[in-house]
Amino acid sequence: RYRPWHLAKLFALSRPSSYNRIMTRITHPQIEFRDNQIPVATDFGDIYFSPEDGLAETELVFLQGNKLPHAWQDQERFIIAETGFGTGLNFLATVKLFNEQPGKCRHLHYISVERHPLSAEQLNIALQPWRAYGLETQRLQDIYPLRIPGFHNCHVSANITLTLIFDDILKAFDDLTASVDAWFLDGFAPAKNPAMWNDSLYQSMARLSHAGTTLASFTAAGDVRRGLEAAGFTIERVSGFANKRHRIVGTFNGPAKTDIKTPQKIAIIGAGLAGATMAHALQRQGIDCTIFDRNPHSGLNASGNQLGLINPKLDVGHAAINDLGMSMYCFTLHRLRDMVDKIDLKQSGALHLATDETKAQRQQKIISDLSWLPEHAQIVDAQKANALSGVTISADSALYYPDAVTLNTAKMVSALLDHCDVRWEQEITSLAMLQKDYDAIIIASAEAAIALYPELHQIVQPMRGQVTYFKAPGTLNCPVIAGHYVAPVDTETWVTGATFQRQRTDAIPQDADDQTNLAALPDLLSNLPEQPEITDHWAQIRYTTPDRRPLLGQMAEDVYLATALGSHGLQYSFILAEILASQLTGAPLPVAKNVLDFVHLHRYQNLLS
Ligand code: SAM
Repeated sequence: RYRPWHLAKLFALSRPSSYNRIMTRITHPQIEFRDNQIPVATDFGDIYFSPEDGLAETELVFLQGNKLPHAWQDQERFIIAETGFGTGLNFLATVKLFNEQPGKCRHLHYISVERHPLSAEQLNIALQPWRAYGLETQRLQDIYPLRIPGFHNCHVSANITLTLIFDDILKAFDDLTASVDAWFLDGFAPAKNPAMWNDSLYQSMARLSHAGTTLASFTAAGDVRRGLEAAGFTIERVSGFANKRHRIVGTFNGPAKTDIKTPQKIAIIGAGLAGATMAHALQRQGIDCTIFDRNPHSGLNASGNQLGLINPKLDVGHAAINDLGMSMYCFTLHRLRDMVDKIDLKQSGALHLATDETKAQRQQKIISDLSWLPEHAQIVDAQKANALSGVTISADSALYYPDAVTLNTAKMVSALLDHCDVRWEQEITSLAMLQKDYDAIIIASAEAAIALYPELHQIVQPMRGQVTYFKAPGTLNCPVIAGHYVAPVDTETWVTGATFQRQRTDAIPQDADDQTNLAALPDLLSNLPEQPEITDHWAQIRYTTPDRRPLLGQMAEDVYLATALGSHGLQYSFILAEILASQLTGAPLPVAKNVLDFVHLHRYQNLLS
């Protein structure tokens, strides 16, 4: 007999369409600095910008070529997309112009794609000449994302967002959801980089453009002009920069821009991780938010665990799930950079143990499919893992993620809520209580979601989990993980867990669960004392779905769900919030479009209709 839970499992999407797609391998470029200054890409045999005056070239070709700042003067938001981020000079010049002359434009989104991100050292040298020109070179270096393939959504300032996609341009634009207002067609000269300049690029540009979208390029090559014209752009040849005879500017003749009716006032139910991150993402887009929570304080429910781990959640061969895993990881790390001192953040790295031969093979496959640079993920043998962690691991090898961090989750939720309007001890028992005062409602609490939509019972299920704190028997430098984990809280204390108990809603810690947690420790570490001294314990109820991924999407007109984050609330919350905020405001989607299917509630639509 099928219980609802089993039914839900049957209805969930089973396989991603892009199963087994290998990720694009990204590499640092080969650069020679001519006269110690001008970057030349030796692989392509071309320069990054004009040796005469790179900044003046950018201003003429891309900014004036797209009629900036005039074009954004009266727009609520303005979206630029560029082919080839390179040194970021075009981006920096655009940021400077926007900061000086934003007009009435509230938000600038700059999307750029790069398959060969400069290393930190290369970037530092390449940006040297521009430090004296009032460009935010240091800010770019500070926010530059991990050089990991995929979408990186970076907050440059309160009103500027950079979406940097490390991938091949053709694939990146295929994955992108955005309504682009202006194109910066950079990229090396068509003769030096024929793979990029082709019809599939122009078709993607047309798909992402609307009537009146402009484009500008340094090149006026005949093939490029003809290709863009065939895709629907009107192209004009104008005089080029310095010794270049011509460049092009153009306008798209296609369907009008879709009007998005952005809600101005939103009520969010739930002041945990999901609600707090949601309010932040929406407030940054100028939306007024109020959070309602029936509990008296933040951090009482699943979001209150003291030690939170941020480490990648990846799988063998699942390209779309890995896109999601990568986005969650990089996105969260990026957001935390601005709160480092408030949340006890430590970049400890994390070791995922290969506890048997099958797991070792899976990890090898993840590494070869992922195409991450070794500075971000590598297989280490037991000796190296022991040296990194300071303890003796119970495995022959491990997958090491050097960028992984630990933090205090409760402090993080509090830090986020400090900037929010929260109405504590207000239980929302019907949506009608909010509908007259708010344009939209976001349910960011699983309990509230089930209470308001009882049919969700079939999909959203409680999962009890307990962690156990014990006296540190030595020095542990980083979390050690193999399904469950052990991690250092401070020099005195380690924490281990968590248990997973379905369908239990009692959050009182149990001694038996501490024993379960401690009994599993030898799978992680050897040479431990027989009976570690327990100092504390903590139990929580997390809500999850049969496929263990969250539920995001629209439940009814102006009612949205962002819940069921399970035991990965820290990793899911920031990205889900940004996705929903983008959908409500018309901002570019911060993730590849295939990622959406994996968190969207339509995967369970048969049960909900
Ligand atoms: N806009 C850049 C700036 O402001 O410094 C200069 C761009 S440079 C001329 C061209 C860039 O395009 C290089 O960084 C190169 O790695 C990148 N590129 C070329 N072909 C690409 C492709 N197919 N996919 C992704 N990036 C590509």
